[in-house]
Amino acid sequence: MRRKYVLLGSTGSVGRQAVDTAIKMQLEVTALACGGKSLELFCKQCKALQPKLAAVHDKNATDGLRELLKGYDIRIVSGDEGVIEAASFAPGGIVLTAMVGMRGLRPTLAAIEAGSDIALANKETLVCAGDLVMKKARERGVKILPVDSEHSAVFQCIEGRRDELKKIILTASGGPFFGKTYEEVYGMTSADALKHPTWEMGEKITVDCATLMNKGLEFIEAMRLFDVSPDMIDILIHRESVIHSMVELRDNSVIAQLGTPDMRLPIQYAFTYPERAEYIIPALDLAARGSLTFAKPDYDTFKSLKLAKEVAKWGGSMCTALNGANEAAVECFLRDEISFGMIGDTVERVLEKTDIYPINSLEDALSCDRESREAAIEVLSRHGGV
Ligand code: MG
Repeated sequence: MRRKYVLLGSTGSVGRQAVDTAIKMQLEVTALACGGKSLELFCKQCKALQPKLAAVHDKNATDGLRELLKGYDIRIVSGDEGVIEAASFAPGGIVLTAMVGMRGLRPTLAAIEAGSDIALANKETLVCAGDLVMKKARERGVKILPVDSEHSAVFQCIEGRRDELKKIILTASGGPFFGKTYEEVYGMTSADALKHPTWEMGEKITVDCATLMNKGLEFIEAMRLFDVSPDMIDILIHRESVIHSMVELRDNSVIAQLGTPDMRLPIQYAFTYPERAEYIIPALDLAARGSLTFAKPDYDTFKSLKLAKEVAKWGGSMCTALNGANEAAVECFLRDEISFGMIGDTVERVLEKTDIYPINSLEDALSCDRESREAAIEVLSRHGGV
């Protein structure tokens, strides 16, 4: 029987590439969901993939979508309930979770509950409530298949070698401010941060790449996905993003996964795991690249990465608060209300005020997230940010 697929967050950067992958691979997509900002694109995706269900989170966008999809046999739903219905629409199949931020948590849990494997592109979910998500997945017997390129690489390198694993080496592009000092980057603006060297991505993750918080979130994501302690993960700056990550084994042998930097590769692998399908991305031409470079991360300039590594040891509420404070601060930064350096400062101050406790339920995660966002806004208003 053919597997069924659901794509959540289909109009975002990963979502668009997942739609392209699904079209090229002629997958059966039963539901699509989007936030509602890019309705025309969403409509085009619906026409191309012909899902049975289309969910738009913004209820005000429902009428517009209905008009655009007139004459198509696609049921339209909206709001939180609509997205959750879409998330539950592929029992036994695969749900791609490509929404941005903490709001991906509830639909991810719904998809697990419905018995679908998760192609996980929403790293915040594992940072905010990783123990809960992994526990639910184990109980329900579903797989969490990483779509983040680094984690897909580790997943591929580790296969069959789990018992020999000594270290995970997560590679990082270093972002647009690589090589700069703390003082040089402090006053940078969103326009400076939105120029990413290698990957073409959404705004939130592009800012996270500039602060290196993205790598910090990925550090925590790796701990949860692969069930390893923080001292088993190293971060390595690799500007070319050709090596997507590596693992070091007991005998110090290092195994890496390489490829042309294109998100459709990890998306495709999650969609076909444990098999591999015909390529849809260009082959890697190493001779044309000439050289690959490596460096240590600079924890002084990139405070957010240092903070993420610190809270990784504590887990629970500290990771949830790290993410919540970061999401709130990045939103302010994208509205040009605060400078680049204030993102890390805000996260640091919020963490100082956060109590340490485990996140055992959706309610724990949601309340900790809300409190950390409020704390971030308070910190910023006191320091002249908002
Ligand atoms: Mg990544």
